[in-house]
Amino acid sequence: MPQIVLKQATALLENGFRPVDLLIDGPYIAQIAPELTVPDGATVIDCHGKLVIPGLIDAHVHFRQPGMEQKATIASESRAAALGGVTSFMDMPNTFPATTTVEALHAKMALAQRDSVVNYGFYLGASHDNLEEVKRVDPHEIAGIKVYMGSTTGNLLVDDNHELYQVFKHAPTLVATHCEDNAIVNANTKRAKEQYGEHIPFDLHPIIRNRDCCLKSSQLAVELAQATGARLHIMHVSTRDEVEFLRPLATGPISTRQISCEVCIPHLFFNDSDYGRLKGFLKCNPAVKYEFDRQSLLKALRAGIITTIGTDHAPHELAVKTSDDYLKVASGLPSVQFSLNVIFELARRKEISLEEGLKAATCNVAARFGVEKRGTLKEGYYADIAVLDPRERYRVTTEDVASLCGWSPMVGQSFSSRVTHTIASGHLVVADGKLVTDAGHALALRFN
Ligand SMILES: [Zn+2]
Repeated sequence: MPQIVLKQATALLENGFRPVDLLIDGPYIAQIAPELTVPDGATVIDCHGKLVIPGLIDAHVHFRQPGMEQKATIASESRAAALGGVTSFMDMPNTFPATTTVEALHAKMALAQRDSVVNYGFYLGASHDNLEEVKRVDPHEIAGIKVYMGSTTGNLLVDDNHELYQVFKHAPTLVATHCEDNAIVNANTKRAKEQYGEHIPFDLHPIIRNRDCCLKSSQLAVELAQATGARLHIMHVSTRDEVEFLRPLATGPISTRQISCEVCIPHLFFNDSDYGRLKGFLKCNPAVKYEFDRQSLLKALRAGIITTIGTDHAPHELAVKTSDDYLKVASGLPSVQFSLNVIFELARRKEISLEEGLKAATCNVAARFGVEKRGTLKEGYYADIAVLDPRERYRVTTEDVASLCGWSPMVGQSFSSRVTHTIASGHLVVADGKLVTDAGHALALRFN
């Protein structure tokens, strides 16, 4: 692997943006200094006028493999991630087969080693009958134990409180939860069907999957964590109610606090007024809710109540998103390629500061999940880096979408930043906005 020098970078270091050069040697950042001499044979990337940041660590993606390759593959989505400056992903277990055994986990890791162009990690899913697998999995190998507390995703739904207690009690890692109360969702769906038949409007989604269903399930997760001592990360918090509930629990350093939570890009960027325009393309679970919820999520991010930003990248083939029948449209939308753009856009609108947004998508994720030597631009750490041109304003077109599904709710959106280069574990993956590598160089994340 040739050495790489990033020249005249404005780089986000631990103490903020600084003008420096960076030397990458093998998979690591070897040196950061105001001015470096370029070693013989090194590749030089001119970063004059550009921003150099740690590559994003997306702790919440659904790359759909194995079993749903018509929606997405690790090959296709890891490339979309790289084009968006995401250098590591953690993939959810609701594939076919579900990742509920150590064997299935290792099969996925082998697939990623073969096909991924960025670094990878996986969750082990909790199911009704895999407590022994939860107990025996090597905690250094997995991002966490994912528990679906009330979403009907294959056999992964665990809604029996005794079973949940056992999973929380025996999880050797962070427990990551999807919190929506299924009974509330079912009752609301029934009522909507009675009222609207096959013509349920899409903006009823946040009323069917309402704030109570989120809050009730999040409260249960916290109770279980407190009763068992489990470390808990509530994924994709979407309501002001959850923020207020979680506020008093958000104390101490991110790496050691017992309870923490994530916000996802759709909930930070969209609100209920977007259903009219995007219809089924905005349908995801938990539902995108109201502007006051979005404002509360932004505020919670600034206050450190919400510690990490993920995407919940969940692509579907076009055919299952275009129906006018709300009930026939699958939930989930792709976003991994545009999360960095969204963070820059939120910063441009002064809804968060750029540094807060980037920290929540990089070093905070590393701290919360114990990701070894990533998430910060630092000598001795892995060279996971995104280079952006902050001057380039562009409008997303369908042709820009690298995800296999070929659509994105971001099409038509203008962004004020563009990723030019992505380096994952010291390997140049994207140069001048184009993929320049084959898979086989990415590394498995290690969790401490
Ligand atoms: Zn998800």
